[in-house]
Amino acid sequence: MTLEIAHPSADPFEGLPPARRRGTLFIVSGPSGVGKGTIVRELVARDPAVRLSVSVTTRAPRPGEQDGVSYHFCAPAAFEALVEGGELLEHAQFGANRYGTPRAWVEAQQAAGHDVILEIEVQGAIQVRQRAEQAVLVFVLPPSFEELVGRLQGRQSETPDAIRQRLAIAREELTFLPMYDYRIVNDHLEVAIRQLQAILEAERCRVSRLGLP
Ligand code: ADP
Ligand code: 5GP
Repeated sequence: MTLEIAHPSADPFEGLPPARRRGTLFIVSGPSGVGKGTIVRELVARDPAVRLSVSVTTRAPRPGEQDGVSYHFCAPAAFEALVEGGELLEHAQFGANRYGTPRAWVEAQQAAGHDVILEIEVQGAIQVRQRAEQAVLVFVLPPSFEELVGRLQGRQSETPDAIRQRLAIAREELTFLPMYDYRIVNDHLEVAIRQLQAILEAERCRVSRLGLP
């Protein structure tokens, strides 16, 4: 038996307006020393379509950190001027220092269709979620608290006092986990990187992100 299939005379996809896709904001948070920077740097190296936001901070550069690459380092007064001028998408105090995301750069990247990663702490993440509901929030956890302590100490970038302060903040930050969309446990680095890649890929497939009219 042959099936009679009615062929539409016109291509049903004809006339569908081309999608105008605005880039998505991906936020990666997690306790200091969990490996956020390591994961995100590797993701950006593997995925040329994604852009990493460079934050402004009042913190002093660590050895090897370059102005304009790791952060835009600035004095407290200059930071306050950015806040007053509405030039930061979000900002927060972390320990003794202030951190914020340059708004204009992020918006230009999104308008050009690039996905943008913000590696920021929890208070800033919640501010972004309130302003941009479609932002995707990813929380990176350590396999254990002991492992987190070991990584922070092993990085040798903070004094013992600063490490204690960061571990105390880490306990507070954990209470924000329910506000996030995804969590990744950074035990094996390669698995964690692949999971972040998978989150990006899945979110890019969302019909609601295609920019259809
Ligand atoms: P964060 O950006 O979250 O503060 P970093 O990316 O600086 O953390 O990582 C902290 C330390 O942990 C670094 O020395 C890094 O090499 C190490 N690290 C990152 N991921 C892993 C992992 N999966 N296993 C072991 N060590 C890791
Ligand atoms: P660090 O001093 O280790 O580079 O960063 C300390 C914390 O500040 C980390 O949790 C990091 O994700 C966060 N952070 C870095 N940039 C920003 C930012 O622009 N805004 C906010 N809210 N947090 C940031």
